[in-house]
Amino acid sequence: MVHVEDVTIAWGIDDVRPDTYCTASLKLLNDFMETYPVKITFFVTADWVYQPPPNFWKYDYFGIFPRFFRLKSLPSGTLRIDKHREWFNLPQNFAIAAHGLHHFRQARWPATEFNGLGYDESFTRIKAMKELFESIGITPVGFSPPGWAVTDDMLLALKNLGFKYVGGSADTVCKVDELSRSSEAGIKGVSPFCPQEIGGLLNIPRNWDIATSDFERGIRIADNGGIVSLHSHMVADYFGEKLRNGITEENLKRVEKLLRGLENKYKLKFLNFDDILRDHKSG
Ligand SMILES: [Zn+2]
Repeated sequence: MVHVEDVTIAWGIDDVRPDTYCTASLKLLNDFMETYPVKITFFVTADWVYQPPPNFWKYDYFGIFPRFFRLKSLPSGTLRIDKHREWFNLPQNFAIAAHGLHHFRQARWPATEFNGLGYDESFTRIKAMKELFESIGITPVGFSPPGWAVTDDMLLALKNLGFKYVGGSADTVCKVDELSRSSEAGIKGVSPFCPQEIGGLLNIPRNWDIATSDFERGIRIADNGGIVSLHSHMVADYFGEKLRNGITEENLKRVEKLLRGLENKYKLKFLNFDDILRDHKSG
């Protein structure tokens, strides 16, 4: 069969930090890459502080992730990236972007680090985050907002600190046509399928959840000329707290099925988010 058209496949993974949970997921991803040479963008938190409190489920009055309501911190610096440099000696299929200084903050909504912060506080946090990355030899140009909380002050601070793109929106359920606008999480009103400039940054959307999106959606996104941009978290089970779209063998089988389906019709082109930024600039 002759393939004439490419489809771009991107994959952004949030909540990456150098702990044993993430190391187990990294091994699964490395194994997966032997079948498909996917390019993955890790959104890494510079100094992840959160661990669920013991018996956290007792606090889950609202039936959703307890981490939105309770915060128990690891001792300061436990998972700071400069203390785990070796973790970031990754194969070249992985790119690194940023996902907050601490991800969490003692506030009404702890998981949304930048929610409710003004420009100066946002700037200070992002600068401290960037400096931690630079201390291990990485200059991140991309950022995804912890807990999907996006503010204009945060976007402006990112731009002024040299960031070029945000993985700032996710919509993994919207109708697939050119009129659709992202409304599920993060930046609202942008294209769910194509990169789009906003506030001097490029927004690179995510549109296919590795645990829940249907396979036909992926094909339709490609048919409509979009990038198929996978969305997931690094860890599915963190101290007993569950995130459905974490890296598991079951979810990786779903990704494989998606890629096999796309491959029947398209030539797969794997890009990380930095590659997408470069292509957007050049053309
Ligand atoms: Zn996150």
